[in-house]
Amino acid sequence: MLAPMATTVSERFRTGSSRRVPSRAAPPPRVGIGRAAVVVGVLGLVAVVVLGVTSEASADLHARGGVAMFLGGMLGLVGMYLALVQLLLISRIPHLERILGQDGLVRWHRRVGPWPIVLLSAHAIVITIGFAQTARTGVLHELGDFLSAYPDMLAAVVGLGLMLMAGVASVGALRRRMRRETWWVLHLYMYLALALSFAHVLALGPTFVGHPFTQVVWALVWASTAGVVLTYRFALPVARSLRHRLRVAEVHQEAPGIVSVICTGRHLDRLRISGGQFFAWRFLARGLWWQAHPYTVSALPRPPYLRITVRKLGDHSAAVSRLRPGTRIAIEGPYGAVTSEARLHEKVVLVAGGIGITSIRAVLEDLPKKAQPIVIVRAPEESQLVLREEMAALVRKVGGTLHELVGTRASTGGARKFLRQLVPDLAQRDVYVCGPEGFVHDVVDAARALGVHRRCVHYEVYQW
Ligand SMILES: Cc1cc2nc3c(=O)[nH]c(=O)nc-3n(C[C@H](O)[C@H](O)[C@H](O)COP(=O)(O)OP(=O)(O)OC[C@H]3O[C@@H](n4cnc5c(N)ncnc54)[C@H](O)[C@@H]3O)c2cc1C
Repeated sequence: MLAPMATTVSERFRTGSSRRVPSRAAPPPRVGIGRAAVVVGVLGLVAVVVLGVTSEASADLHARGGVAMFLGGMLGLVGMYLALVQLLLISRIPHLERILGQDGLVRWHRRVGPWPIVLLSAHAIVITIGFAQTARTGVLHELGDFLSAYPDMLAAVVGLGLMLMAGVASVGALRRRMRRETWWVLHLYMYLALALSFAHVLALGPTFVGHPFTQVVWALVWASTAGVVLTYRFALPVARSLRHRLRVAEVHQEAPGIVSVICTGRHLDRLRISGGQFFAWRFLARGLWWQAHPYTVSALPRPPYLRITVRKLGDHSAAVSRLRPGTRIAIEGPYGAVTSEARLHEKVVLVAGGIGITSIRAVLEDLPKKAQPIVIVRAPEESQLVLREEMAALVRKVGGTLHELVGTRASTGGARKFLRQLVPDLAQRDVYVCGPEGFVHDVVDAARALGVHRRCVHYEVYQW
């Protein structure tokens, strides 16, 4: 049963906040750290190539099968290195997350993604040819030998198979036909695939056999990557969930199909979060505990309360409206780079498509008066303009302007039209936009076309 519309607790979120305690905002993004990470990544790649080249004796290269063995080894080394970079990109390292946001990191993860799989598949083929040439035997015969007689090769082959499966499942057309949860489980096999392939490199790779120093360095690189993943994806979320002990306090309806969930927790005054950030929420209730979904905090915290606002879309978001008070919650985050701290100009324009209002509402609350925000909210019908009074009150408070565009895209016009009409000084503002993919990209493209610099456009896609 949903609670009635306005209760004392939900009332707290309706008024524009808040005594913003400065220490509570998320630490600002430090672009220098991002640049340093890129330099380290490139240097690592160079080191791997140099290591591969220098460990190859020229006599081996000229021996029968030597060229294929050398090429195969290099493909394997570079492929493995890029696979580790892939892991780091989605390990939620806070410093990187604050610069690129989860969106940006996932985009890079996808860009790099095909390379390890292609390189490691090529490695398997070329190295088998090399071994077959050396042993003066057929490729299939050599493959049989690999599986039966070489240490750790069976595990490596199974690992490559799992990697291929996870890679194929991520190909756009296939992925779109799959339930997200199925794709996610298949994707998890990537971790197993990498673990299975680790040992054969040390046991057979010419760069490592008889070279204890490179063995130690390689093992340390792997151990550090695993440590980073375990720290940021598991240990930190568990520690944060235990510290704040969030529970559902109440669920109330904002509009047809849209609810707000107010949670209560401990030490929320110490939670470092900026307006516009989100958590991955794991509601510890039957049928929900095993999946974590991202929902943006739809207002700055009012300790001991925190609020999200959720639109029913599929199984998880529908189940949110049925949560019972007292349900425990585990959180991962806060994540997200669409925050007030990201802006490069004083002034901003905030654009929300549908439920993207959650992020825009919270960013608005975090802005100083000099931001003079122009806020544009798009919804297909008036009943879907949620958090409407709060938005109006906040916009008034910071001396901004609010425009509500109700109707289909055909009736309200595309982003280029409304940005041109409603924001005369667009190029002197940072643009924030949140909502469904098509809407966000329309606004981003229009803003760029109308002269806004790439780094002044901040966006979060809610469904992709
Ligand atoms: C950074 C971010 C912030 C978000 N904030 C809000 C919010 O404040 N309020 C709100 O109502 N919605 C928000 N969403 C969208 C919300 O996460 C999805 O609507 C929800 O996860 C859908 O799950 P489902 O099981 O109900 O639907 P499904 O039918 O399983 O999924 C519907 C679509 O939602 C997306 N989705 C599903 N699971 C995930 C996931 N784990 N991660 C990313 N996308 C997923 C996919 O595009 C999928 O096609 C946000 C999404 C992101 C990425």
